[in-house]
Amino acid sequence: MDKVVGTQCSICNTRYTLDEVTYTCPKDGGVLDVVLDVEAIKASTQPEDIFSSADQSMWRYLPLLPVNDPGHQGTPLRSVGLTPVYKPPQLAAELGIKDLWLKDESGNPSASFKDRASALLIARAAEIDAEVVVTASTGNAGAALAGMAAAAGAKAVIFAPKTAPPAKIAQLLVYGSEVILVDGNYDDAVALAVAAAEEYGWYCRNTGYNPFTAEGKKTAGFEIWEQVIAANKLEKPLNVFVSVGDGNIISGVHKGFRDLYALGWLKQMPRIFGVQSAGSAAIANAFNLRTEAIEPVSAETLADSISVDMPSDGLRALRAATQTDGAYIIVEDQAILDGIASLGKVGIFSEPAASTAFAGLKKALADGLIAPEEPSLVLLTGSGLKDVKAAMQAAGE
Ligand SMILES: *Cc1c(COP(=O)(O)O)cnc(C)c1O
Ligand SMILES: [Zn+2]
Repeated sequence: MDKVVGTQCSICNTRYTLDEVTYTCPKDGGVLDVVLDVEAIKASTQPEDIFSSADQSMWRYLPLLPVNDPGHQGTPLRSVGLTPVYKPPQLAAELGIKDLWLKDESGNPSASFKDRASALLIARAAEIDAEVVVTASTGNAGAALAGMAAAAGAKAVIFAPKTAPPAKIAQLLVYGSEVILVDGNYDDAVALAVAAAEEYGWYCRNTGYNPFTAEGKKTAGFEIWEQVIAANKLEKPLNVFVSVGDGNIISGVHKGFRDLYALGWLKQMPRIFGVQSAGSAAIANAFNLRTEAIEPVSAETLADSISVDMPSDGLRALRAATQTDGAYIIVEDQAILDGIASLGKVGIFSEPAASTAFAGLKKALADGLIAPEEPSLVLLTGSGLKDVKAAMQAAGE
């Protein structure tokens, strides 16, 4: 793969080739970053090539992705990404801010952000001749992997906590994956998926374990650059709000910006703000204590997609904020429900883990972390149809 140099450990910086290590660093368990061959990419691709691409999906960024063209044209695998960015004036006025963009991921094939990682994983699985892909999931990652596997005619096995919302479990079943409901929480499902992958030789998509998930998720960073920063020729740094559970989405978005910065295509790094529920705030707690030592919590929040005891990609997630002059913000579950209601009033239907990022923006304004004249974007990671119970709570009837 001439676009990729290899991987690099986020803890000890050791470099590996892609063939050498499949998952985490053998020395310290650190999550690996995929390192692009920046010079090779610069020599063959210009931003204009991407801006003028006819591909209306995340695959328009193929020159910056660590896989070859996956094929499967005309399937849902090829329609992931390039999600809409909205700029509702009512909502900006209500918050008293000048430029507010909302990037809505609910239109992805399985209705969440997770399709970005799963589409890339399915492409990688085919390249390494993996016959079965497996993942642990609170619901969305599993639905995304099941959906993308179905689109590509591959086989998926999903471990999910039996408490996952019914809509997400229904998706797993309809997409035809093998579903194993775990009598435990998400962290238990993670351990089981790793053990099954080792035992049966399956390719494991687990978040914060497989280095390729962040490579799929970084395409959201590319799109924010193309659709907002470059399209509007922004001069001030953009504030980007991301909800955080395991921390892989925020790490992926950060990686996207880092890749573009290394290529010289992005002049100014956005400021990245991670938002966690008060009931699941392991990374935010570390941020507030100014330490990189993340301590587990006993997670309890209605935002099931970000309910995590020990974040699997915590270190990189923390650095996404500390290295970009961003911050971590903690919001209460009631503010998350209020966020669903506010977004609904401008025509956007979000699940709790998505409205969490919006609640974070409101809190950042109230606390003076950001100023009203600064441009801001909220990443809305999943559809309200995923969790109808929470939606009914937000509606108040
Ligand atoms: C997975 C997920 C998140 C959080 O992503 P992490 O990588 O776990 O931090 C946020 N919102 C939705 C809808 C998700 O499915
Ligand atoms: Zn290491």
